[in-house]
Amino acid sequence: MKSKTRPIVGIDLGTTNSAIAWIQEGKPAIVSSPKRERIIPSVVHIDTRGQVLVGQDAVGSKIAMPSRTISAIKRHMGSEEPLSIADQMLLPEEISSLILKELKGFVATTFPDETAIEAVITVPAYFTDAQRRATKRAGELAGFVVERIINEPTAAALAFGLGKPDQTGHILVYDLGGGTFDVSVVEMYSGILEVKASAGNNLLGGEDFDWLLLDYMAEHVVAEYGVDPRLDLRAKTLLKEKAEETKKLLSMSERVDVSIPLLCFKDKDPIGLAIEITRVQFEAMIDDLLRETTELVTRALADAHLLPTDINEVLLVGGSTRIPKVRELIRDIFEMEPRTDVDPDETVALGAAVQAGIKSGELTAESLISTDVAPFSMGISVLHQIGASMRSDWFSVIIPRNTTIPVTRTEQYHTSSDGQRAVSIEIYQGESEQAKENYSLGEFMLEGIPANLAGEEAIDVTFSYNINGILEVAAKCVSNGKEMHISVHDQLQRDSEEEFSQSLERIHQALANSRLFDDEFDFDDEEMDITVEADDEFLSANRSLASLIDEAKLAVAKGQRLVSALDELAAKNLLQQVDQVLQLLENPEVTSLRNALDDLVDMLIDYDMEGED
Ligand code: ADP
Ligand code: MG
Repeated sequence: MKSKTRPIVGIDLGTTNSAIAWIQEGKPAIVSSPKRERIIPSVVHIDTRGQVLVGQDAVGSKIAMPSRTISAIKRHMGSEEPLSIADQMLLPEEISSLILKELKGFVATTFPDETAIEAVITVPAYFTDAQRRATKRAGELAGFVVERIINEPTAAALAFGLGKPDQTGHILVYDLGGGTFDVSVVEMYSGILEVKASAGNNLLGGEDFDWLLLDYMAEHVVAEYGVDPRLDLRAKTLLKEKAEETKKLLSMSERVDVSIPLLCFKDKDPIGLAIEITRVQFEAMIDDLLRETTELVTRALADAHLLPTDINEVLLVGGSTRIPKVRELIRDIFEMEPRTDVDPDETVALGAAVQAGIKSGELTAESLISTDVAPFSMGISVLHQIGASMRSDWFSVIIPRNTTIPVTRTEQYHTSSDGQRAVSIEIYQGESEQAKENYSLGEFMLEGIPANLAGEEAIDVTFSYNINGILEVAAKCVSNGKEMHISVHDQLQRDSEEEFSQSLERIHQALANSRLFDDEFDFDDEEMDITVEADDEFLSANRSLASLIDEAKLAVAKGQRLVSALDELAAKNLLQQVDQVLQLLENPEVTSLRNALDDLVDMLIDYDMEGED
């Protein structure tokens, strides 16, 4: 008898790309989009009808409507700052939930009656508590039951370890994606994967390489024309796209011709960019950042008490490991070739599916077990006596970095002044002895301590770090048992049900408000039928505005493509017309948009025919 398996999916919610996978016939498998894409860009666009576009379609709208499009949202996860998209303010996890919802759509058709799909979502090993909670929340907002948050390099190791029960030794996972870098050292024996140490940087990845290239290109324009294209949102978006394209080409070629015929205008004169960039130049630009990754590799090895020669396999994960220099650095350190059978784009999602399969029971036969570590130290700020002097803001570590999780540790502290009735517990993560130089996770007060002499009252502080990498802190006055518990995030008021409903409502409202017109017509509704009749003129105007906007967007995209094929004067004329339409699209109105669009379409027909001659 086979029980009906509940859907548990694994999701790689990446800075640049995202993917969803699950177990199929005993093996992890990527679930493709309806358009058969195995990974989709983590880009969100809200169109003029309040519809959400995610993935390649959103990328397509980016140049035409940058203010309605957001990419690399993962870089903001855990922040309390709302971001603007289509003039609406949303929290990073709210925007991320739109990506997750899109991925959910890929599997939802298979489970039409299931409302609760469980998910394992991956995060960079070096993600902080707030970033993990925001990720979990994003999953919940998308309608998943978030079963586990697991570290990306650990997921990669799981995907690799599956089906290799006899493999013994140490593997090193080097994960350099679009926004983050992680390295983990994992020991494998008899189907057990034990993470020994992790290190990383949440703000280091291919995006940074793009910005360095972008600056290089922009500086060139500044030097030649005295105009900074970075100040123009559209030019900046064009440059960013070109920078990424150039970077990828440089992984294949030693030199690349970079050409943007029309980037921006200087006093109505068109300005373009035409330069050559060599791989050597690019490698020099990113040298410091790559060096930082190798330093983190060295640190992870040292924390695991291993030498490079102790590593049996190196797995390269993340799109940026396609850069030849990265492979060269790895060869220099380990004196061997990295594995070539690991797909840098899909491994993390597949590993998340493996974790999901272990949970659902679909993979028990494999008896794969994994353990993970806390990649950073966690503790509190205290007064510390060094010799005869007292030092404040000393970082007292309660859970040292690379402790195996889950873990609960208690340390005892004492009051520092006579009659002290309360203590402030300031929680940090990081590696500096100076608490304030570390990352603050929050603080709370323990009150109700009996008045006593300094040092006479003891306070037990307990840290619990769970398998999802989420921290709970408790403080207890030993003499009277008075206790306070906080989940670090409770303090930020974001774990409450109320906050959750507010988030859902905010997303709903944002989509409604982002519409440039109201297109909620329900023609089956009798009442609406009357309105349709009564407001026929109004509605048809609105409907024609909707199709007008679509037409205009298409024409703009076509114009932008055509520009590079034209001579300078024609290109200038066309781009001016494109710009005019774009400006009108920001705040569209039927008559002016129709006129500008007609002119643009005329030009497109003329120039297109010219191009064909
Ligand atoms: P994430 O996990 O952050 O979503 P990915 O693993 O998908 O990221 O990697 C995306 C990054 O890899 C992007 O910055 C992209 O530009 C970069 N990338 C993809 N292919 C190449 C390539 N051939 N050469 C250099 N960088 C690449
Ligand atoms: Mg990734």
